[in-house]
Amino acid sequence: MSEKTIAVLTSGGDAPGMNAAIRAVVRAGITSGLNVMGVKRGYNGLLSGKLGEDILGMKLRSVSDIIHRGGTMLYTARSPEFNTPEGVQKAADNCRKLGIDGVVVIGGDGSFRGARDLTGAGIPCIGIPGTIDNDIASSEYTIGFDTAMNTAVEMIDRLRDTTESHDRCSVVEVMGRRCGDLALQTGIAVGATTILVPEVPYDFQEMIIDRMRFTQQAGKKHFIILVAEGVDRDVSEFAREIEAQTGIETRATVLGHVQRGGSPTLRDRVVASEMGYRAVELLTAGKSNRVVVMRDSKIIDLDITEALAMKRTFNKELYDIAHKISI
Ligand code: ADP
Repeated sequence: MSEKTIAVLTSGGDAPGMNAAIRAVVRAGITSGLNVMGVKRGYNGLLSGKLGEDILGMKLRSVSDIIHRGGTMLYTARSPEFNTPEGVQKAADNCRKLGIDGVVVIGGDGSFRGARDLTGAGIPCIGIPGTIDNDIASSEYTIGFDTAMNTAVEMIDRLRDTTESHDRCSVVEVMGRRCGDLALQTGIAVGATTILVPEVPYDFQEMIIDRMRFTQQAGKKHFIILVAEGVDRDVSEFAREIEAQTGIETRATVLGHVQRGGSPTLRDRVVASEMGYRAVELLTAGKSNRVVVMRDSKIIDLDITEALAMKRTFNKELYDIAHKISI
């Protein structure tokens, strides 16, 4: 009987820790007696199907020296072509031509929809949650989130030094289009006066101006207002209005893509390693259309279709606590 072959790819937005997950899949696969292929640039690599160019044979040493590196050695992409029935069929046909019996997809919910469709076209897939936003409903943790939070905290601590020296207000935008987790955790860690997230409606006067005035009367002279990317207004607009209403010099800062990069934290490396290992275990056990997730701090697996139907919950209690103590 010929050896089974699995492939691994990273798709959608990149996240620190994806390399650690790739390493775990490759090493676990090879030690379980499988051939492992690395697919470049997400589903685009499967659509190309070019062996040696977009699809690489992986050996134990192919993933040396990557566990501590940010980004993804396999590159990542969004693939409009794959997001069509014809694209999924073409990718499945290429997998059959290359003898690929299963695929591990590291990415977000969009990538999991792709994995579900590819499973439907006859290629068993397993998903691993990798995104700095922590915006996957089925998993309480996603690979990259811890690194991104720590990067944001380090950057804002630097901003705080200058904000404090000038008695200023800093309005800082962190990533999170649909999910305020990064803003919430970071906001608590830097002692932000106000945290705005897409999940909680806000009143500008009450949440920003009144809170700033109250803390000012209690002796505070510098302020950090933390805003998630998905909030309806631009940080420059917030800054102009705050300065106009309070007379406090206010600057806007968008942290931007620095939040995606950098060496993954211990937590991201460890979670990615275990998730990668579990994904291979599922494929060798003949499972498919599953996603490896963290629930109640344990790593388990769920059906992808069920996982995709789950609704995210925002930790409003923690959000309220943050605002009670940052005064
Ligand atoms: P993420 O995985 O980070 O959520 P995207 O939403 O951009 O990122 O999805 C990544 C890729 O997954 C897309 O470019 C597309 O190729 C594929 N994909 C997304 N949604 C679907 C879908 N409904 N069906 C098939 N493929 C999809």
